[in-house]
Amino acid sequence: MRIKKISAPLQGLDLESLKKNKALVRKNGTAKLVVSASDLNLDFNAVSEKAMKVVSQLQKHNFKAYLVGGCIRDLLLGKKPKDFDVSTDATPEQVRKIFPSNSRIIGRRFKIVHVIFGRNIIEVTTFRSNKVAPTNKAEKKFSTRISDNSGMLIRDNVYGKNIVEDSLRRDFTINALYLDPVKKEIYDYNGGLYDITQNVIDIIGDPQVRYSEDPVRMIRALRFSAKLNFKISKRTADPIKKLSSNLLDVSNARMFEEVNKLFLTGHGHESFDILRKYHIFELLFPATKEFLDNQTFLQFVDYALVSSDNRYKENKPNMPHFLYAVILWTVFSVQLYQLNQYQFSMVEPVDSANLIKNVLHCVLNEQQKVTAMPMAVSDSIKSLWRMQLRLTSFEEEENPNTVTDRNIFRAAFDFLCLRAKFEPFLESYVNFWQPYYQKSKIQAMKMQALKEPKGKKKRDKLEAKRGKKQTFATEGFEDEKNLSAKRKAQLDKARAWRASMNLSS
Ligand code: ATP
Ligand code: MG
Repeated sequence: MRIKKISAPLQGLDLESLKKNKALVRKNGTAKLVVSASDLNLDFNAVSEKAMKVVSQLQKHNFKAYLVGGCIRDLLLGKKPKDFDVSTDATPEQVRKIFPSNSRIIGRRFKIVHVIFGRNIIEVTTFRSNKVAPTNKAEKKFSTRISDNSGMLIRDNVYGKNIVEDSLRRDFTINALYLDPVKKEIYDYNGGLYDITQNVIDIIGDPQVRYSEDPVRMIRALRFSAKLNFKISKRTADPIKKLSSNLLDVSNARMFEEVNKLFLTGHGHESFDILRKYHIFELLFPATKEFLDNQTFLQFVDYALVSSDNRYKENKPNMPHFLYAVILWTVFSVQLYQLNQYQFSMVEPVDSANLIKNVLHCVLNEQQKVTAMPMAVSDSIKSLWRMQLRLTSFEEEENPNTVTDRNIFRAAFDFLCLRAKFEPFLESYVNFWQPYYQKSKIQAMKMQALKEPKGKKKRDKLEAKRGKKQTFATEGFEDEKNLSAKRKAQLDKARAWRASMNLSS
């Protein structure tokens, strides 16, 4: 049972006028509502100084600029926003001119500018419009909105004139609120303020059209419901079951990022529940379909997700390889077992190393079709799974160092402990490896302590240098001036991803 509770910052709002405004939105498509942010209990200290700086700089250059999206939603809910997005009428090229030394245009489907302050990235987006692409040739070159046969947007760069147009191309009403942090005013054109007070996720515009343009919006609706404990309005929820198969047309790289957001950012348990309710989990992890009625499988995955949700709350990083290793473990182990059985009937059996290699390859290749796991992730999954076999087939006369010296040993032991909660016969292996695990942990802590002062000194020096020159934050301290465009793009992507996952620290 969900509890309807108006968060502290919203208590200054007049519910009746919000309700009337929402009724007008239903009737006319949009209705303007301006609320003085000073009347609300908003925590302006939670607004990033850098985001404020970007907005005020843009405004100083006579552009319109607002904070928008998740950060306003979270501020209104009394939560600390994890990232800040700025919406402006300046084009990406104009934004680049205002922040020449610390900004970069990224994206093709959706051009945006990253303004970079050390580890903080502020995303600046030019007002977009839902209108069809201009026919004028010159304008078309810069403003393109192209969709494929199914209506899915391949490019979405038609610039809008103002925040009304911009708000209409956003996904949900609660994500389409604008704050001018200088004037301290909030602008709402879609009844988002009312929906926040009612804990409702409501899609903007015609749900069929909006989901066809971008099927990821279906996953986003479920994600925000899981994350915020909000209901999904009937009109928003109804078409999902019918249209969910459109998700198969989304690029597997984008799906990888969406899956990470669903499961690694503190609400994995809730995401798992709602995705199964809408039959989308089996689209994301097709090989698990046959286990979705198996209580041991469900409890195993759920237990791991609850643990990683707790880790997130303690500001500990959650890694994608562990997530995938957990979700697909049952598939891998059952396939390996079945092939092993089949071996007995073969005239010329395959050796066990090849058998394992084949099953690893099959399971991960199938998954790659839906979510493009970077090679580092799939390699780590393979190591983790191989180590499960090693930890449970260890002979007493063997040297334990051959196992415990491997980097993946401690993660593999954690995984074994997790499995042991559901496969009690594994307890004897846990007991056997436990002392080695403790030893390895102490050793790793010592090594870390030895490394830290040197690394910290280097980091401090670099940070000071960066602060002075305000150049780009670099990955592994590479000199960005000398990097290829491809490498720069890779670094940008990695940074943006880590920032969105809260993994920057
Ligand atoms: P989170 O807290 O998870 O970052 P968010 O709402 O900030 O939530 P982002 O992915 O950072 O989500 O997107 C920022 C904003 O961009 C959203 O609030 C929404 O207004 C808009 N947006 C993002 N993805 C879409 C989409 N697929 N379709 C329409 N609008 C979108
Ligand atoms: Mg965000």
